[in-house]
Amino acid sequence: MEFRPADAVRDTEYGICMMLDRARWSAEGEGGPGSGGERFGKQEQEPASEDVIDVAPGVLRMQLPLHFTGLGHVNMYGLVDRAGLAVVDPGMPGRGAWRSVVRALRRAGYRPADVHTVVVTHSHPDHFGGAGRLAAESGAAVVAFGGFAVPWVVHSGPDVVSVDDSSLGTVSLGTVTTEAVVHGPGRLSVPWRAADNAMSPPQLPRSLRGPLLQLAWRMGRRYLEPPPLGRALTDGDQLRLADRDWFVVHTPGHTADHVCLYDPEHRLMIAGDHVLPTITPHVSGIGCGPDPLRQYLDALDRVTRFDVDLVLPAHGHPFADLAGRTDQIVRHHQRRLGRLREIAASEGPATVEVFTRSLFGAGRGGLLAESEVFAHLEHLRHDGAAVVRRQDGALVYALPEGAVPGGRSGPAN
Ligand SMILES: [Zn+2]
Ligand SMILES: [Zn+2]
Repeated sequence: MEFRPADAVRDTEYGICMMLDRARWSAEGEGGPGSGGERFGKQEQEPASEDVIDVAPGVLRMQLPLHFTGLGHVNMYGLVDRAGLAVVDPGMPGRGAWRSVVRALRRAGYRPADVHTVVVTHSHPDHFGGAGRLAAESGAAVVAFGGFAVPWVVHSGPDVVSVDDSSLGTVSLGTVTTEAVVHGPGRLSVPWRAADNAMSPPQLPRSLRGPLLQLAWRMGRRYLEPPPLGRALTDGDQLRLADRDWFVVHTPGHTADHVCLYDPEHRLMIAGDHVLPTITPHVSGIGCGPDPLRQYLDALDRVTRFDVDLVLPAHGHPFADLAGRTDQIVRHHQRRLGRLREIAASEGPATVEVFTRSLFGAGRGGLLAESEVFAHLEHLRHDGAAVVRRQDGALVYALPEGAVPGGRSGPAN
């Protein structure tokens, strides 16, 4: 699908979502933030194809274009039965994205009115964004995890958006929480930074600063509302879709409310963003409770226990080797934990910003790179491999007294 400047203007409707989403994805990739390799070097970056592909009996893969993010498309799966079809993850909010949904359905031989169920794997805008409009147009029920919560929930007050405040646990000098607060456009307080060192507009895409940023902020907040759920899922629930039963598998870590769907009859796993073929899913330190990385690694381990022949990811191509791919992702996180311990040994006590700079290089940080580093440092802390204290308002992490870091370089002092 072609991209027109007019789409860019319309897409500012969901402004803050996109800013955050862009940062989120730019923090991904095996090598660090933005390490996508060549243009379209990752499957998930490929532009949306207009092909509708039968990936399994009664299961269609349709691709919807994504703009601004580091991703080229999101897969909207169609699960076909006699009553019409269910769709999984109908893409972004906004008029341009809606037209893409309608076109994709038409290419598959359907109209929005044929959709009886909209399944949302998790609360990121490239997955839930189109659900409300599709449900309104078709009368379909929206189905998602019972704890489904858009992370950037509008609280009272005109310019404050607050993220879930679940505790990360008590540390010696106070409590670390996952709370983050957006103070209007472009200013975000995060738990690891001092209040006077909030994230600022230079972290945001250049095209969205200034008046356009203000407009995006005002209009975008309307799109932060989650769609009303017709059914709230719990782990182990069954969904009858495409003429067979799918089991709901709760897989927290990428978000707290992430679910995969498992079809034991055809050994299919609809994986959302839990396991992607060539990009390492982002694990944020914000909004996922204590030790999100532990949750994520446990949930990775969990899906490998299912008998799966084909994984249907939300971005990139379907693939067969679930165990092999999860193993690669686990090793990626282990390497990163090792690097952070090495950095702690060489730098001494340091803030999340310093760890992020050391890991990715100057100028390659940003909100979501820092949030992922925060998740890894919190994981080390929960494992007893790091300690934390507050210094001048910021969290400062260090190796415990007498600790010897793993990895090649060993302690530098
Ligand atoms: Zn996601
Ligand atoms: Zn996604």
